[in-house]
Amino acid sequence: MRKSDTQFAALAHDQTFKSKMHHKIGSVLVCGKQVIGTGFNKLTGYGSGIRYSNKWSLHAEMKILHFVFDAPKAKGLTLYVVRRGYKLARPCPHCQQLLSKSSISRIVYSIDGTLEELFL
Ligand SMILES: [Zn+2]
Repeated sequence: MRKSDTQFAALAHDQTFKSKMHHKIGSVLVCGKQVIGTGFNKLTGYGSGIRYSNKWSLHAEMKILHFVFDAPKAKGLTLYVVRRGYKLARPCPHCQQLLSKSSISRIVYSIDGTLEELFL
């Protein structure tokens, strides 16, 4: 873990207040010491994840992926994924698979009131 992790995780936690989902999850994408994108989970008319009637839940990790494509030369990005109250927010296997194809090399996620890291 890095010193700045708690700081960026707190920013991701701020994003959870924008989510209208039952499990409120926020995400922050960081390149070096700079935030290049923020997101939160929401319902959309497309995507993957859990389906609610004709809507899909767009995972907070996916909401942020377009920032990766906006910065194609950025390498070694860190993604912070935090659930309200720092509950479990480990990216699901589907998101992990997609993220592993991006320039994100490290994910910091909340679990049981603390943070864990995952290297892709
Ligand atoms: Zn997911």
